[in-house]
This record gives sequence, structure tokens and C-alpha cells, in this order.
Amino acid sequence: MRTPIIAGNWKMFKTIAEATDFAKQLTATKAIEGVEQVICAPFTTLSALAGILQGTPYALGAQNVHFADQGAFTGEISPLMLKEIGVKYVIIGHSERRQYFNETDETVNKKVIAALSHGLLPIVCVGESLAEFESGSTEQVVRTQTEAALNGLTSDQVKQVVIAYEPIWAIGTGKSSTAEDANKTIGYIRGCVERAFGAEAAAAIRIQYGGSVKPDNIEGYLRQSDIDGALVGGASLTVDGFVQLVAGAS
Ligand code: 13P
Repeated sequence: MRTPIIAGNWKMFKTIAEATDFAKQLTATKAIEGVEQVICAPFTTLSALAGILQGTPYALGAQNVHFADQGAFTGEISPLMLKEIGVKYVIIGHSERRQYFNETDETVNKKVIAALSHGLLPIVCVGESLAEFESGSTEQVVRTQTEAALNGLTSDQVKQVVIAYEPIWAIGTGKSSTAEDANKTIGYIRGCVERAFGAEAAAAIRIQYGGSVKPDNIEGYLRQSDIDGALVGGASLTVDGFVQLVAGAS
């Protein structure tokens, strides 16, 4: 019922030339059907990528957005600006932004509301640190983050959101969560959505796993009842890797 969604998060990798090469190669290969595919690229590459990906099965995503339409916010990019380029998705509240750039539950919520009001689809990241995992507070952490991120949305808006559960200790470490553990936490997040927004929204919202997802472990995650896709960093940087990830989800 829920279409799986694989999103590559390129983080701060790829020049325009490199991104263009990737997109040309990707669009030259036969597209896999039945999986929504998204490339979340650095701001500087978005225009060039939009030109190549337009009319293809590959959607374009950004990795951050400001919540204001415009204003004196040096260095920031607004939802209007992303919309103008043809961006469809935007990652909001990635743990790297929470950790290094003062992203808080409150700014995440403002950004989610702003993105949706401009027709951008948020990929909201939640997840616990290693210390929180070890002290058994994973559920409490993801519940607080999820409820805060979605605060004030209607049930219909919630259905458009994608949540990415990314345990921080699994990001870029090669130490991925087991598929069973990830499914349990993602099922718990779905329960939080149900309590706040009802069964229909909970059944519709897509929740990805992220954290050291590779072509050789993605199938195990996607086989789980509550995991609807993956948000992938390192393994999404090559065309081969990206295509194999999508194949593993199909
Ligand atoms: P890795 O896939 O490189 O572990 O990164 C995960 C991530 O942070 C995706 O947003």
C-alpha cells in the first residue's frame, strides 16, 4: 500500500560537474519501477540536476531549508527558492544539522510547516545518540522528536511527510541497526503518529531507516513490516550503488 522510497543523501559531496555526470549516467540506465527514488543534493548542484532529472522517474531533494519565504538570513535558502528550481523533497532535521548547526525540535517544526505550505515534501530525520541507545531511551527520544516535528499539522499533511529513523550511532559508522530493531522503533514511531493523527495518517505515512544502509543489507530492512525505504549517505554516491539500493527495495 505504501510505495517504498529510497533517498540518497549526498551530504557535502559532489561538485556541479560530478553531480551532472552522476545524473547523466543514472538517467541513461533503465529505471526500476515501483520504488520512489530521490537524490538529495547540495544546493549548488540543484539547478543543474533539475535540468537533467526533469521528466525522469528521479525526484530532486534538498538537504535543508529555512522557514521564512525571504529575509535577512545570510547564507540561508528559502522554500520558495527550492520550489522555483523544481525541488520536490527536502531533508529536515538531519542529526548532523541538529549536532553542528543548532537545529532544534522547534526549528524542525517550523521548517516542516513552511516546506508543506510551499508544496515541498519533508523528509524529517529522528534518531537517538549512542548514549541514549545504551541507556534505553530510544523510544522516548524518537517520540519527542516526532511529536515536535509534526506539531500543528493536519492529518492530511502528515500523510505527505516522510520520516527517516536514523540512529546517530549508525550513521557513517558501518554499525547498522539490526532490521528487527529498526522495525520495532519504526513501528513505535508509527504508533506515535497514530495517537496524534489517527489510524489513517499512521497507515499512510512512510518511515525510512537510515544509517549504514548498503546494497548488501537493504533487502533485510525493506522486508520488515513497518520500514518503507531508506535514507542513504555513503552508498548513494555512486550510480552503481544507488541503482543497487533501489533494486534491493523493489
Ligand atoms: P550513511 O548511509 O553514510 O551511514 O549515512 C546515513 C545518513 O546520514 C543519511 O542521511
